[in-house]
Amino acid sequence: MALVGIDLGTTNSLISVFTDNGPELIRNSSGTFLTPSVVGISDAGEVLVGESAKHRLITHPGMTVARFKRAMGTAKTHNLGKKTYKAEDLSALVLRALKADAEAHLGQTVDRAIISVPAYFNDIQRKATYAAGKMAGLKVERLINEPTAAALAYGLSSKEDENTFLVIDLGGGTFDVSILEIFDGVMEVRSSAGDAFLGGEDFTTAVEDHFIEQLGTTREKMKPNDLGRLRDLANKAKLALSEKPEVTVKYVKGKSQEELTLDRPKFEELTQKLVARMRMPLQRAISDAGLRSADIERIILVGGATRMPVIRGMVTKLLKKFPEHSIDPDEVIALGTGVQSGLLDRHEALEDIVMTDVCPFTLGTEIAKQLGPNQWEGGYFQPIIERNTVIPASRVEPYSTLHPGQTDITLRIFQGESPRVEDNVPLGEIALKVPKEKGKTQDFQVRFTYDVSGVLEVLVTVMATGDVKQLILEGNPGSLSQAEIQKRLKELEKLKIHPRDVAENAAVINRLKAAYENHLGDIRTAIENRLVQFEHTLTKQNDTDIKLTRKEVMDFLDDLDRMDVF
Ligand code: AMP
Repeated sequence: MALVGIDLGTTNSLISVFTDNGPELIRNSSGTFLTPSVVGISDAGEVLVGESAKHRLITHPGMTVARFKRAMGTAKTHNLGKKTYKAEDLSALVLRALKADAEAHLGQTVDRAIISVPAYFNDIQRKATYAAGKMAGLKVERLINEPTAAALAYGLSSKEDENTFLVIDLGGGTFDVSILEIFDGVMEVRSSAGDAFLGGEDFTTAVEDHFIEQLGTTREKMKPNDLGRLRDLANKAKLALSEKPEVTVKYVKGKSQEELTLDRPKFEELTQKLVARMRMPLQRAISDAGLRSADIERIILVGGATRMPVIRGMVTKLLKKFPEHSIDPDEVIALGTGVQSGLLDRHEALEDIVMTDVCPFTLGTEIAKQLGPNQWEGGYFQPIIERNTVIPASRVEPYSTLHPGQTDITLRIFQGESPRVEDNVPLGEIALKVPKEKGKTQDFQVRFTYDVSGVLEVLVTVMATGDVKQLILEGNPGSLSQAEIQKRLKELEKLKIHPRDVAENAAVINRLKAAYENHLGDIRTAIENRLVQFEHTLTKQNDTDIKLTRKEVMDFLDDLDRMDVF
């Protein structure tokens, strides 16, 4: 009865096992480690998985499916012949094939697995992955975040380690950046960013376009078959350029043959815009984690496309640190899942449960800003839950009416990153009435509570009357029943307690205030600074930051106590 680690990838999947020599990858029946995540039905009605299915993608498109990981956890179905399958059904078929390969290799039943998932996978996508494992006859012991697996493969596992990692994953079609921090044996995703429509295939397209130009023709004028062959050559040229400075490929058409040449400087020029698009998510992930690039201790490269020297060069230049790539970037996640399975069997597994969900976009409301005396302009965006906030989260902000005597308010809710609401996505609105008091504006509070099921609860409380208005917005309307929504909201109730009110934090504040009373001069100023810093951290409502700051403040107070005893 063996435990295995599985990288269930968008393009390829791999399986590994922990041995006396560390994690080892297991070959499939074709003799390779990479099993294409492709499922098909043969002419005889048999299910095909991996290489044999991949070959039929072009010849039998209606009977073959690829890239279904993107639809995990959604209701989307894929047609395969007469039947329809959800992404988790197709993933189960891939898992079943990997399980069979591992059983043939190990000579024993494989019934337990650790499966890697993208760090940004939400609860629903994670549950779908669990379900796929179960359908394949595997007990999924735990899911591991892909960047965590990469970090584990690079040797991080000791509980004493404290490190900040940047994991850069450039696959065939997606670009993911994650910042991880390990603290007290717990791995946490501090931030994640990326581009769901940028990957190695775009680099192939850039080369393909260049070759089409060299041939003096256009895409539209070429036959699909010729275009297919040219894309193949473009891909070969791209791969070869990762090894050598210049490459020549031969394009045969009819009886003639044309040599197409490409060198690295030209490749860099062709892909300049694609490389530039990678900079923004990198910088965003670092700043969202509240870090500077100098704070990043290790940079790890994942995904076949990070083999391109142009990518490594950009990362080195931007972050002034060499990225690590000693492990094959296609194998690193699978090896990490193998390490995790070894740790789990020794009951030492690294915890990375905390690093699950972050809000992928900012949620807020429209507000008006004062531009001058009696001059207000609406249309501004006031963020309440910021992008990359660990969710579930509940945040509250104070508001007030614009005009004295105003009694009606319409609060409009948006999601997005622009300072102007017209560039963001409208989610809904809530109308409320406030009492009329001559010459006075009215205060009210807006609380947003949001979790991975995509339910956003907006609560508006009018301070003068205590009236509360509630609006529930669903990310995927119809995906949850009323009873499920009510259950989620009940679970989220406990989040609405402000961290300041949590007993532990309140005790630290009281200790700081008492210390302030007991000291004078520079020490008093130092205590006051700590109080301001701690209260500021509490308002940001990030559990990890609060824990870290609280520990610092307690150490400071303990030192003070020791100084007081002569
Ligand atoms: P993955 O999804 O991680 O397998 O990434 C596959 C992508 O990486 C494809 O676009 C490949 O063409 C690309 N890739 C793999 N090896 C190399 C290489 N040596 N140089 C450039 N790109 C590569």
